[in-house]
Amino acid sequence: MNEVKKHTGFGYVVKSLVSGLGLTWRHFKNARNRRTPEYVSDENYFKQPDGMATLKYPYEAIPVPDNGRYRLHNEIDDCIVCDLCAKICPVNCITIESVKATEDIGMTSDGTKKRLYAPVFDIDMAKCCYCGLCTTVCPTDCLTMTPVYDFAEVNIKNMVYHFTDLTPEQAEEKKQLLAKQQEEMAAAKAAALAARKQQG
Ligand code: SF4
Ligand code: SF4
Repeated sequence: MNEVKKHTGFGYVVKSLVSGLGLTWRHFKNARNRRTPEYVSDENYFKQPDGMATLKYPYEAIPVPDNGRYRLHNEIDDCIVCDLCAKICPVNCITIESVKATEDIGMTSDGTKKRLYAPVFDIDMAKCCYCGLCTTVCPTDCLTMTPVYDFAEVNIKNMVYHFTDLTPEQAEEKKQLLAKQQEEMAAAKAAALAARKQQG
């Protein structure tokens, strides 16, 4: 009986009320704490500041690690269109179309000779599983995973990223130049063979 009185008396009610309000006030105060940028190597990276339940995204965001694997980017000026990335991709989300250049098209920034144009260089980020394999085989390091992770789209077609630097007209022109060059080479070869036969 005494025990019941102890937990229902006026003093106990006031004490509980004060203690409950104190707890609420502490949470209320702590909820104003904001997260400061920290690197994944820091001890507190995965700890939320006391009382903080949500972030004011996009005004606040948890920093991503430097070696995180997020949206792909191809620095097309440095791409030699070797197709290695497309070949190794386990989900076939890289589509490349190449056209042999008929003229000197220069070098990449690491001094690799460029011989091919890429009328199509598409990466479907909706299919990508972010394994990073394509970036590891890229011989010129032009294909990289960026820290960009917030790129949701309403239309899934917009998840296909186009990296070609050629317009459709320019691509068509390159194809025609190559076809013309191949015709000329075939004609020259046939003429040389005919001349050799005549001599023989
Ligand atoms: S990260 Fe993996 S799945 Fe995505 S494009 Fe590269 S190889 Fe393909
Ligand atoms: S592996 Fe690199 S250089 Fe080769 S096609 Fe892919 S992005 Fe271009």
